[in-house]
Amino acid sequence: MQRESPKIGLVSLGCPKALVDSERIVTRLRAEGYQIVGDYDGADLVLVNTCGFLDSARAESLEAIGEALAENGRVVVTGCLGKEADLIRREHPGVLAITGPHQYEQVMGAIHDALPPAHDAFQDLVPEAGLRLTPRHYAYLKISEGCNNRCSFCIIPQIRGDLVSRPLAQVMFEAEALVRAGVKELLVISQDTSAYGLDLKYASSNWKGREYRTRFLDLAEALGSLGVWVRMHYVYPYPHVDDVLPLMAEGKILPYLDIPFQHANPRVLKAMRRPANQEKVLERLAAWRKIVPDLTIRSTFIVGFPGETDEEFEDLLDWLEEAQIDRLGCFQYEPVAGAPSNALTGAVPDAVKQERFDRLMELQQEISAQKQIAKIGREYDVIIDDVDEDEAIGRSFADAPDIDGNVYLDGENELEIGEIVRVRVNDADAYDLWGEVID
Ligand code: SF4
Repeated sequence: MQRESPKIGLVSLGCPKALVDSERIVTRLRAEGYQIVGDYDGADLVLVNTCGFLDSARAESLEAIGEALAENGRVVVTGCLGKEADLIRREHPGVLAITGPHQYEQVMGAIHDALPPAHDAFQDLVPEAGLRLTPRHYAYLKISEGCNNRCSFCIIPQIRGDLVSRPLAQVMFEAEALVRAGVKELLVISQDTSAYGLDLKYASSNWKGREYRTRFLDLAEALGSLGVWVRMHYVYPYPHVDDVLPLMAEGKILPYLDIPFQHANPRVLKAMRRPANQEKVLERLAAWRKIVPDLTIRSTFIVGFPGETDEEFEDLLDWLEEAQIDRLGCFQYEPVAGAPSNALTGAVPDAVKQERFDRLMELQQEISAQKQIAKIGREYDVIIDDVDEDEAIGRSFADAPDIDGNVYLDGENELEIGEIVRVRVNDADAYDLWGEVID
């Protein structure tokens, strides 16, 4: 059956830079199956790319918006005049959405909100869920690009710029498409997941007829309604993360948080240019574990940061004893070209870095082994990643793919990859579990 493509009329005003913006937007629209049409009548929606350089250009842009509204009625505005959203809304309160220049993600999000793309498996070159390099049953969901933090050891903000969040509805369209394509576990990633939406001032976004704000809590709620595993990575322990814990307690999202703490000593954290209130963090972890006793915290730490003294490293070990982090990755500090931390004095010799790394990992192994042993006799849902003639290998809520442990199910060679089964744990080591299927 021939699919009915949604049709978009485009009015492009302004300079060559605005024209390039229009070309990029049109390319994205075409790739997603939208049709671009040349008249107001035939369009389901009109996109007006405006200019705001001179008064005459602003007047022309406002006039073009008015004409599109009069002729078609459904108008999304983008481009330079989009920076003056109040002015546009005053003159034309009926516009559906307003975005600024070069905001491709936001324009696409606004269009998806107002006029969802149609997908046709027989016509589209790319599957609805996109081309993926992960197995069919789990997928990474990128919610933003760039980062507003300026950690001294990191050059990501230099390379990728400040935080640019994808509007919530846009993320949710992708998530739904992935679930329709068979994904059973969504792994939410970004550089700073808890800052999601800050750049958009947590703008509202319409998904399935309901208004959501583009922010961490609403995203967790919306994803939690899809009926698949949702795992949050790169979360910072800001106070608003507390709000997400009840969703974990209700089983809407996995009780798993990946929080890259990097260190615990206040001076080192300051030199790293990271928030340095680890006492508060300990309180927060304790409060979270009261709400969700099984909460699994994964984190990464850096040892041998320039100037790190023996005492400061000991502080980190003490803090880890208290924090009882469940899963931990450790890196020995390495200078990255262009990172501000290269200018710091007090380089730690490689042998000392190695020794600190070994001591930290030894401590973590003890913590981890105790936590794993406490799981013996308990039951968990396990998602199956691999099956061979001898066994099936899966993961529980506490294990992200590739970075955490596995659950081994001896003799289970008839399970399906992506299947979720109930398992009783009967053995454990510091990283992995062994168990049997009980349903
Ligand atoms: S380490 Fe992470 S939070 Fe810090 S600047 Fe880099 S990307 Fe941002």
